[in-house]
Amino acid sequence: MELPEITHFEHGIIQVKIAMSYPLRWVNSYIIVGDHTWSVIDPGPRSAENEAAWHTVLNTLELHVDQLESIILTHHHPDHYGLAGWLQAQSHAPVYMSARSLAEARLAWGEGNTAAQDLITFYKIHGMPSEITNELPEHLQSFVTQVLPQPEVSIITPEQPFLIAGHSWLPIQTSGHAAGHISFYQADWKAIICGDAVLPQISPNISLIPNSDPEPLKSYVEGLRVLGQYEVEWAYPGHRRPFNGFRERTVKLLDHHEQRLDAMTERIRTQPANGYDVCMSIFNSKLTLHQLRFAMSETLAHLEELIRRGIAHKYQQDGIWIYAV
Ligand SMILES: [Zn+2]
Ligand SMILES: [Zn+2]
Repeated sequence: MELPEITHFEHGIIQVKIAMSYPLRWVNSYIIVGDHTWSVIDPGPRSAENEAAWHTVLNTLELHVDQLESIILTHHHPDHYGLAGWLQAQSHAPVYMSARSLAEARLAWGEGNTAAQDLITFYKIHGMPSEITNELPEHLQSFVTQVLPQPEVSIITPEQPFLIAGHSWLPIQTSGHAAGHISFYQADWKAIICGDAVLPQISPNISLIPNSDPEPLKSYVEGLRVLGQYEVEWAYPGHRRPFNGFRERTVKLLDHHEQRLDAMTERIRTQPANGYDVCMSIFNSKLTLHQLRFAMSETLAHLEELIRRGIAHKYQQDGIWIYAV
């Protein structure tokens, strides 16, 4: 098979592009090599191709699984968390994530979870038509195999220095994209591994989903302000390429969300509407089901933020929530 693209950066940080579905196409796994051990951050979604890709990568880099010190996860989404259990089974290395991320993983992937059904009910009361919600169970089920087997998880404590391959990193917990998301900051190198908290070019998805953070946009904005205070030369994101200008990127993302809030305010000022209709007017209507799910949850995150700020309110009409200014 084709070798996944491997790029070496300063301080033994290695970016490995692991395949995932459209439109993101790849997730960045990072390997950090120490004197006698190595660690991996976000191994990618599980598939037979990605397992084979990892074998090839480790052969190429001459890394052995018995020297794998830790498997570290920025957050619980399948494109980051997926292969953790598989890699743990090969290596017996500990898998680390935040306590909140673990709770989110159990909510999404735990035995007997009701996440799919809860999401469908939630979208229905926000106006999503049944011809779309009927397709959701199969769509959501398709992610389950990407996260099997589930890993045994050890907990990372935010703000407590955390050793990765012999160097001390600061775990910074911020939410909004995913509750409990951790970025890792290395002060001497002015480097940050930022998962999906800050991405270059694309705006990380902010999702309102049942039983999770009820104010994800507020959480996200607060998180960007925290992250923007760190002095960063190189940012290593979960998608796209490592980049400079980290602080400027956090400011751009803040602006983007304010503009989007304004656009939604105008939309419901003209005509009160349910979440699905607002979503259709704000986002391109030619979305895949996967993109529509993200767009819908992001719209609801913004609409709820407008309520929190006292700009909008909502009322029920025939069992559907309507947002109005
Ligand atoms: Zn994510
Ligand atoms: Zn991601």
